[in-house]
Amino acid sequence: MEPNPKALALFTEGYEKILAGINELGYDTKDANFVETAARAAKGFHELVNDQNKVKGEVDELLAKCFPAKFREMVISKHNTAFGMCPHHLLPVVYQVSMAYIPTDRVLGLSKLSRLARLIARGPRLQEDLTHELAEMLHTNLESQGSAVYVEGLHMCMAARGVGAHEARLVTSAVRGVFLELATRQEFIKLVTTPHGTVM
Ligand SMILES: [Zn+2]
Repeated sequence: MEPNPKALALFTEGYEKILAGINELGYDTKDANFVETAARAAKGFHELVNDQNKVKGEVDELLAKCFPAKFREMVISKHNTAFGMCPHHLLPVVYQVSMAYIPTDRVLGLSKLSRLARLIARGPRLQEDLTHELAEMLHTNLESQGSAVYVEGLHMCMAARGVGAHEARLVTSAVRGVFLELATRQEFIKLVTTPHGTVM
């Protein structure tokens, strides 16, 4: 996604202040390694924050690329890695996203599910909201019989600071439609929580 020039300039200004703070802590920020750091860091930060004005259009485009199908069983895409950021600390979160839906009469290409997760994840938002938003899209926008989303998030704000809970993972899940039935929900959870088989 093309960077938004105004946001990029504001992020760069912010990082210049951060560097001044780092300098205050005794680091030589005049060192050659820090030349252009503010601009580079701003660009890196922007990559974790998608432009909301563009996300909607991309999502619509993505979900419009469907194929007619007679298949009426669970379509599942497991363990997709996506990156985002928590709104409380603006620190990165690494997500592992598993998604499923039961089609009505059309299916999405598998790569589209993974792209959808990566697209929606990039922004300062709660993991809970990300989980619900994905489930909603796979149910409502795709007009499926039901959808389910299971997300594990490794939050840097928990893993890297404070008590140093290195293994701190947050698990969230959301279901819509036919997945509200206990047996379907359990089948999904079982499928996404078992490790990869011996095929790969
Ligand atoms: Zn946080």
